[in-house]
Amino acid sequence: MNISSATRQALIPIERKIRKEPVEHFVALDKANKLLCENQGKDNSVDIKHRWYSIFLPNDKKLTHNHPNATKNTLKLSINDIYHGIIGGFQEVRAVSQDGYCALVEIPKMGLFEKIKWRKKLLEYDKSLEKSKKQIEINSELHMEHAVKMIKEQNIIEIKKQIETNAHLKILCSLELTQKEKEEKLIEIADSQVAKILKNIRKTLEKEAGFKFRQIKLP
Ligand SMILES: [Zn+2]
Repeated sequence: MNISSATRQALIPIERKIRKEPVEHFVALDKANKLLCENQGKDNSVDIKHRWYSIFLPNDKKLTHNHPNATKNTLKLSINDIYHGIIGGFQEVRAVSQDGYCALVEIPKMGLFEKIKWRKKLLEYDKSLEKSKKQIEINSELHMEHAVKMIKEQNIIEIKKQIETNAHLKILCSLELTQKEKEEKLIEIADSQVAKILKNIRKTLEKEAGFKFRQIKLP
């Protein structure tokens, strides 16, 4: 366990309050569990820049915030959350969901050079994740166009062949779904692919830098 039981106690009322908020809130506590800073943002981001926030400071602070749209199954720390954890000098970064769960990462003590190294790596990861997201989008659109074209042409043989080999198309060709349902399915597919990439990044951080990722139920 990275944080003390006093810290866990201090976080209980804070997280109980922020997890219900419709927009993102963050709260940072110092070494002695005193409030360092808090802020509220938009539905998927919040600015945490502040005077105490520096790569030169020791990691003895705690950061918690809420992910308003997340639930037990979709809750995860973003690359950005981990990035701020490293360069802001946090020993633990937590994200809470409306339904009372907390995804957290325990960040080991790091020297300045190690922080700089991982900061650079995370920026690279972020870039490649953005690239993959775009690729998923493009692929989905192509599949969508292709599916519509084939349905228009009533090319049953081609449709059947494609359905067998392509999960995206399988969904898109399912004519019982409305356009909105199809779009939702596509987002689901994209999300699961992004989640896979994030999982790999987390694994690397665990193996090479001693990070520990966990999900817990809030008290
Ligand atoms: Zn977050």
